[in-house]
Amino acid sequence: MSQIRVRFAPSPTGELHLGGARTAIYNWAFARNNDGVFMLRIEDTDPERSTPENTAQILRSMRWLGLDWDEGPEVEGAFGPYFQTQRDAHYTDALEKLKTTGAIYPCFCTADELASKRDEARKSGGYSGYDRTCRALSRDQAQTRIDAGEPHVWRLAVPLDQDEITISDLVHGEISFPLSALDDYIVARTDGTVTYNFAAAVDDTDMQITHVIRGDDHMSNTPKQVLTIKALGAPIPQYAHLPMIWGPDGKKLSKRHGATSVEAYQDEGIIPEALLNYLALLGWSLDGETTVIDADTLTNNFSLERISKNPAIFDAAKLEWLNGVYLRDMAPEEFAPHMVSALGEQGLADSADYERRTDWYHELAPLVNERIKLTTEIVPMVRFLFTDDIEIDEDARAKVLEKEGAIEAIRAARTILADCPWDVESIDAALKVLPEQLDAKPRFVFQPIRVAITGSTISPPLFESIKLLGREKTLQRLDALL
Ligand code: GLU
Repeated sequence: MSQIRVRFAPSPTGELHLGGARTAIYNWAFARNNDGVFMLRIEDTDPERSTPENTAQILRSMRWLGLDWDEGPEVEGAFGPYFQTQRDAHYTDALEKLKTTGAIYPCFCTADELASKRDEARKSGGYSGYDRTCRALSRDQAQTRIDAGEPHVWRLAVPLDQDEITISDLVHGEISFPLSALDDYIVARTDGTVTYNFAAAVDDTDMQITHVIRGDDHMSNTPKQVLTIKALGAPIPQYAHLPMIWGPDGKKLSKRHGATSVEAYQDEGIIPEALLNYLALLGWSLDGETTVIDADTLTNNFSLERISKNPAIFDAAKLEWLNGVYLRDMAPEEFAPHMVSALGEQGLADSADYERRTDWYHELAPLVNERIKLTTEIVPMVRFLFTDDIEIDEDARAKVLEKEGAIEAIRAARTILADCPWDVESIDAALKVLPEQLDAKPRFVFQPIRVAITGSTISPPLFESIKLLGREKTLQRLDALL
């Protein structure tokens, strides 16, 4: 069997969104599991909405997710160029070929003529597509009008000797489209530019794509593309149309449902491993129960047969939960770089500091990653360890510091911490006696100390926090409060 070649073909008219990312993941995983080629093709034919910035962002998001492509922008390959706007020569060749075989014909009908024909057909309840007037012209008649400079488009002559075209889709099974409902669709416009369906079919042919894996919003394009590829005399790729992703309300996922771009989730504190995992299982399953799956397991097991026929429902809470699972599972040396990067964005830490006190960061890591679901929660939780500029939370001040006994607790802690040995066990043992000594509930003793040191009622465990902050700073903060 020939090598499997698949492509992800985004239109750079916006950011990479979740649906597109999932399509990319499935193509990538399918190629990787079959020693195939994963290609990236940029369908930038809409001049108004396609931008280099969008292309750059799509590439960035794919790289961030860990999706590497074997051919395409920035890596090139033998089947390029990989931008449709640079593939005119291929489209011209294909058009010439189809002109010669008569698979396409010129149509001189004007927009006005077409509109009035459509109206009439509609009134009489007939078929309102193109009535194929120009298909009846002889080659000589057509050539004479072309030579005379008459504006024309080129249309694909849909076969009239069969009733339907059947596509065997790897997700949905056999799907038949009645040819009577299929227009002789336009492949080249009056200005010579080619249409989307034609370009896609020519590219899939020239790039020797074996499997087209894409969203089922493209299903209606498939018969047109298949007829074009047939006309070109090329083998028809296999198709796998992926059911859409829905929002919780059962409508197609869109901005209405909140963030939909990969980069927005990155900004919200989702890590790439979790998003890849989540999207991979949104419409595909390993065994019907596994929820945590890494990239290797995915690429070693992905198959088109296990793609669900039904739309998948996007669940932001589940993605967040999964992200938390990934964060919790990280070893200190894996999680610490996430802390450094989050803190670095606010100028609170850098890699030099990480190198200087690696052990200290690794001691901190497990105190943090067990308590958060998003990386955006890191800085608020550990900020007090990286700056002296801490503000006491208003709420904490009122609810904790202004309670009876709070100041006494802080004063007693200050005395103990001034000369207790500086390790977690000793700090723990020394402070644990305070509630009894002060005859107060532990909460009323330890919360004031926590607020004095961290500025907030939410922090990593108190004794560990004190240990990591260091004696000098701890005493300074208690003094400042007193
Ligand atoms: N450019 C199309 C899109 O972004 C993809 C079409 C295809 O995969 O065939 O929706």
